[in-house]
Amino acid sequence: MTREREAHALRAAIAAGRLSAADACRASLDAIARLDPELHAFQHVMADAASARARAVDADPSAKQAPLAGVPVAIKDNILTRGVPTTACSKILEGYIPPYDATVIERLTRAGAVIVGKTNCDEFAMGSSTENSAFGPARNPWATDRTPGGSSGGSAAAVASGMVPIALGSDTGGSIRQPAALCGVLGLKPTYGRVSRYGLIAFASSFDQIGPFTRTARDAADVLAVIAGHDPLDSTTVETPVADYAAALTGDVRGLRVGVPGHLLTHGVDPDITRAFERALDELRAAGAELTDIALPHADLAIAVYYLIGNAEASSNLARYDGVRYGRRAPAATVTEMYARTRDRGFGAEVKRRIMIGTYVLSAGYYDAYYLKAQQVRTLIRRDYDEAFTRVDVVAVPTSPTAAFRLGERASDPIQMYLSDVFTVSANLAGLPAISIPCGLTDARLPAGLQLTARPFDESTLLRAADALERRTSWATERPPIFA
Ligand code: GLN
Repeated sequence: MTREREAHALRAAIAAGRLSAADACRASLDAIARLDPELHAFQHVMADAASARARAVDADPSAKQAPLAGVPVAIKDNILTRGVPTTACSKILEGYIPPYDATVIERLTRAGAVIVGKTNCDEFAMGSSTENSAFGPARNPWATDRTPGGSSGGSAAAVASGMVPIALGSDTGGSIRQPAALCGVLGLKPTYGRVSRYGLIAFASSFDQIGPFTRTARDAADVLAVIAGHDPLDSTTVETPVADYAAALTGDVRGLRVGVPGHLLTHGVDPDITRAFERALDELRAAGAELTDIALPHADLAIAVYYLIGNAEASSNLARYDGVRYGRRAPAATVTEMYARTRDRGFGAEVKRRIMIGTYVLSAGYYDAYYLKAQQVRTLIRRDYDEAFTRVDVVAVPTSPTAAFRLGERASDPIQMYLSDVFTVSANLAGLPAISIPCGLTDARLPAGLQLTARPFDESTLLRAADALERRTSWATERPPIFA
C-alpha cells in the first residue's frame, strides 16, 4: 500500500475515514525525529500539542471535512503561534512566547491543519542560506554540506525531505522562492496584500508576504485558498475576491504568453542552471505556450534598490527590540546602556549591518540621495513590469543563478550572498506574485527552479503553469535520497 504523502491525498484519506489525523501526525513527527538531527529544519517541534490537535480533528466529524483536515504543517519561526516559542531565530527573542496567533495560523487551524513545529530561518529572515540563524544553519536534504537556501530554509528542507507536505515561509526578497529552488520544491510568494501579515514579525513591511512551500501545485492552491483574503487586522490586505485556485489547475497552458528577459541571463548564471531553465522553457513551448523576448530595463538596479529600502524599513521595524517592550534584556546601570547592551548582545552581525545601513540611508543629508532615489527607481522597476504585462502573461527567469552552495561558501562575503537574490527581489519591489517551480536536477544532482512572475492577483496563472509542468515532466517527483 502506498502511503499518502501529499496534503491533498492525506486530507482525502482522512475525510473518507481511511486514515486518522493522529496517524498522519505520528508519521510526520517520526520523520522529524529521524531526519531533523541532521537537517536542523526545525527550531521547535510541537509533538504534544500537535498530537492533541490531531486527536481533536479525529474526534470531530465536521473538522474531518475541512479543507486541510489533519494535514501536518510546519511554520517559519517568524510567524507568531500562541503559546509556542517564536524567536525569528534571533537571540533577542529567545524565550518569547506570543500571546496570540498570526492570522495565517488562525486560518490554517480553522481549516483543520495540524501544526507540528516552527522552522529554522535566517535571523529576522535576513539572509539567503539560514547561516544567519542564531541557532545554527539548516541543511539541504539533497546534500547536507550545502545550504537549503534562505531565509525560509528550514521550511523548504522540511517539505523537500518529506517531514511535512506543507510549510509556510515569508518572502521579503526571495525567501520563499530561493530556498524552494535550492531544495526542489514549489514555493509561492503571493501578491502584496493577498495574505495577511498580521502576526508576521516585520522585516521590511512594504515587501513582506507569507506563502506556502509544497511538493505539488494542487497543495499550493489549497493552502493559498485557506490563507488568502482580506483581514481587518492588516490594512494592506485587499478586498479582491480570492480566486478558485484549484479550478485553475487544468494543465492547459496553450496560448500562455511567456516573456523571457534574455538580457538578464547573459552573465552570472551557472551553465547547469541555464540548461535547466532552457529545458523548462522547452516544456512550456511544447505545451503550447508562446515565448517572447522582453526587456526589463531597470532590473539591474533591483538588488541595490532592494537593499536600500529593505534595510531602511528593517532599521525602523527592529527599533522595538529594546529590552523593554520586546526582547531579552541585558541589564545595565543606566537605561541607555541597557538599550545598547541588549541590542549588542541580542542581534547577530548581519542584522546589525542592516540596521546600520538602514539608519544611514534614512538619516538627514542622505535620505534624498539614497532612500528617496531608491523609491524612485522602485517605481521604474514596477513600470517595466506594467509594460511587459501588456505583451505577456508571465515573466520567466531562473529562480536562483546557482544551485545550492556549500555552507560557509558565501558566509563571509555579504555581496556574494546578496547576489543570490538577483532574480527574486524584483517581484517584491513591484508587489507581484511569483512562484518557483522545480525544473529538474543539475549534473551534480542538485535541484534547479524556474521562477514565473505574473500580474497582481494572478496567482492562478502561476499555479496553472506549475501544474502543467507537473503533468508533463517528472521534476516535481524528484526526491532526495533521505526522503522520509
Ligand atoms: N535574502 C534576502 C535578504 O537577505 C531576502 C530575505 C527574505 O526574503 N526574507 O534580505
